[in-house]
Amino acid sequence: MICLGIESTAHTFGIGIVDQKGKKVLANIINAYKTEIGGIIPAKVAEHHIEVLDDCLKKAMEKAGIRFNNIDLIAYSQGPGIGHTLRIGAAFARSLALLLKKPLIGVNHCIAHLEIGRFLTEAKDPVLLYVSGANTQVIAYEASKYRVFGETLDIGVGNFIDTFARELELGFPGGPKIEEFARSGKKYIKLPYSVKGMDISLGGLQTNLSKRIKAKQDSKEDLCFSVQETVFAMLVEVAERAMAHTGKSELLLGGGVACNKRLQEMARIMCEERKAKLFVLENQFFIDNAAMIAICGIEMHKAGMKTEVEEANIRPYERTDDVEVKWR
Ligand code: AMP
Ligand code: MG
Repeated sequence: MICLGIESTAHTFGIGIVDQKGKKVLANIINAYKTEIGGIIPAKVAEHHIEVLDDCLKKAMEKAGIRFNNIDLIAYSQGPGIGHTLRIGAAFARSLALLLKKPLIGVNHCIAHLEIGRFLTEAKDPVLLYVSGANTQVIAYEASKYRVFGETLDIGVGNFIDTFARELELGFPGGPKIEEFARSGKKYIKLPYSVKGMDISLGGLQTNLSKRIKAKQDSKEDLCFSVQETVFAMLVEVAERAMAHTGKSELLLGGGVACNKRLQEMARIMCEERKAKLFVLENQFFIDNAAMIAICGIEMHKAGMKTEVEEANIRPYERTDDVEVKWR
């Protein structure tokens, strides 16, 4: 079975093509909307997605080396995300399904980050530490659903990092720059550490950092280093707590922030200490991508799930545990 997946929950438009039989990602084309300053304006991102979607499709088909009649299934990200951009992906998916006369399946974006790990690695039942721009969640399968075991109580960790980087005038996206500066950091500056039960909070830390940056008393390198050490320790702590609570012995990383080598290292140390296994993906599968949408779509389709074209809506506020999981 070959599935074409479409991703459009936020800044990234993507087309992925996955061959289920060969367990292979045939194409994973990503085109992300970027800004020099500031955040993203929904209407502008939607415009971007409309501009790039035919080119993404063309590139994906060329890369996969298939014809349209080879496609068996269309999958699209149904939510959660920005309504303006989700709508573009859903409309595109409906059109393709009608034209190609193929079944359609709507996919939850957060769950897709976990399913791609199960598809591409040996992981069978991992806890997912999902750390992206807008989302920060610890997700695992339990009692027939994907459940959120912990999350941020305020801002997503990627957005937090990007705001911090913007205040340091390092540009957008901030993550890779912070990582670079952190490597030359020498001194650990004590910062607010906020784990509340299974959850984390970043708002207080953000205010603290804004003040520090304005005061110009610390070096950028030390600040970046200290922010990484503090925030990643919080993330790894809640991930470990979820593993202990569920009794699971696999940890999977997901989301753009998972590209960070220091976060990977800290997660690896924690896993080694509790004799668990850490699963790390290529960066192209960490960030928002459509290969994961295709993969999740295949799993759902195999379980007999289907989204009728007339019902192929968007679900901007869908929660991970709203989804009925028939494929596990
Ligand atoms: P996503 O929303 O999953 O596409 O992830 C985007 C977020 O990942 C942005 O906030 C980036 O700043 C962040 N990011 C990307 N690379 C890194 C990195 N090396 N370290 C930390 N954050 C990163
Ligand atoms: Mg994502």
